[in-house]
Amino acid sequence: MLNLKLRLGGIKLQKNKEETNQLKSVEGDMPPSVLIPLSMHIGKEAKPVVKVGDQVKKGTLLAERDGLISANIHSSISGKVTQLTEIMIGQRQVKAIKIENDYLNQLELLAQEETLEKVIAAAGIVGLGGAGFPTDVKFLGSTCDTLIINAAECEPFLTTDRRVICEYLEEVIAVLNLLRDTYKYQHITLVIEKHQLASLAFIKEPLEQANITLKIVGNHYPQGAEKILIKNVSQQELTLGRIPKDLSICLTNISTIYAIYQAVYKQLPLTERTITVSGDAIAVKKNLRVPIGTSVEWIIEQCGGFSKQPEKVIMGGPMMGRLLPSLSEPILKTTGGITCLSSEESLIPTETSCIKCSECINGCPVGLMPILISKAYREGNLARAQELGALNCIDCGACSYICPSKIDILSDIKQAKSEILKKIEREKK
Ligand code: SF4
Ligand code: SF4
Repeated sequence: MLNLKLRLGGIKLQKNKEETNQLKSVEGDMPPSVLIPLSMHIGKEAKPVVKVGDQVKKGTLLAERDGLISANIHSSISGKVTQLTEIMIGQRQVKAIKIENDYLNQLELLAQEETLEKVIAAAGIVGLGGAGFPTDVKFLGSTCDTLIINAAECEPFLTTDRRVICEYLEEVIAVLNLLRDTYKYQHITLVIEKHQLASLAFIKEPLEQANITLKIVGNHYPQGAEKILIKNVSQQELTLGRIPKDLSICLTNISTIYAIYQAVYKQLPLTERTITVSGDAIAVKKNLRVPIGTSVEWIIEQCGGFSKQPEKVIMGGPMMGRLLPSLSEPILKTTGGITCLSSEESLIPTETSCIKCSECINGCPVGLMPILISKAYREGNLARAQELGALNCIDCGACSYICPSKIDILSDIKQAKSEILKKIEREKK
């Protein structure tokens, strides 16, 4: 069971990172096939540019971005296109392309581009912290004075951002210097959590030499969430409807920075992810490099299978990740880990009545009153849920997690948000 300790504006969780923190990222065996969704980003699905029967290499463009808020999709292995199909990713049905591996490992590099934004766009890079916003659009014509690099990785179990710092610090600094030269940032800040400081002490000097500020934030969850991070670093509030650019801030995740390195200096599009495979139900925990589109099932095999009956297999971490209905789902550009939990380590909620302890209110990092929003939603009072600020919820799950009555507050608030947004859309028409 994860231990909790209440903190004002956030909760303290057991990190469960001790074992994978020190594990160098390793490459898994090549999967026999990959199933690559054409939407792994916020915005429009990419348009396929290959057909069944085509031979492709690792790095061949499979689908091109459709409009500004979209991203190119490349093959993550060399082989043959065998299927254009549709699959479910969570609640969404998306087109996907299946490639059978020919094990020839042929590689297609990106063509030279004139500008940094064009390189990032051609490589299909999206925010790897989970949101999946196309990265070139974030930098497009940037006039921000501050660049914040999120390496806080506040989710329990996940350690891939930490591995980027340990394994690719030089490369990260090279990209940050390039971004500074291109966009004239006045301040660049790299953010890590306090519990990582002792073992990451070696980064202080090189960062200082490169004029990059190291910001240490507390260990409590969710320090890595955009709104919380911006408040911590700049003391500015990202209120509803505003984006970091409005505060002259560009914020991106450290794994995204490494993907930019690969595109700029190695001409490699984004075709693989390092993910943390962890949890008490997996036989061998790993930080594993895998082609995008690899099935969760294959990844679990690469880690020796399950050591005990898994109660939950989660795409991502246990707080903001998504419960997987099937192990055949492929990993996406935005996947940071797979967490396999047995019944001993999972919370198996049996909901009881609210005891009005206020823990959900104290724990909400954005100052909401979660139980009141949940109650309003359950009573069908959407207007009240909106009035209580449901749209400000950042889906961190701290309220549900901390609730002693095991009320699924987050799920109520998510539903309320989705219905409020639909209502707003209807009213616009
Ligand atoms: S209401 Fe939203 S932001 Fe607040 S704790 Fe719950 S999930 Fe997190
Ligand atoms: S919803 Fe849960 S955490 Fe919030 S006041 Fe009720 S019992 Fe306490």
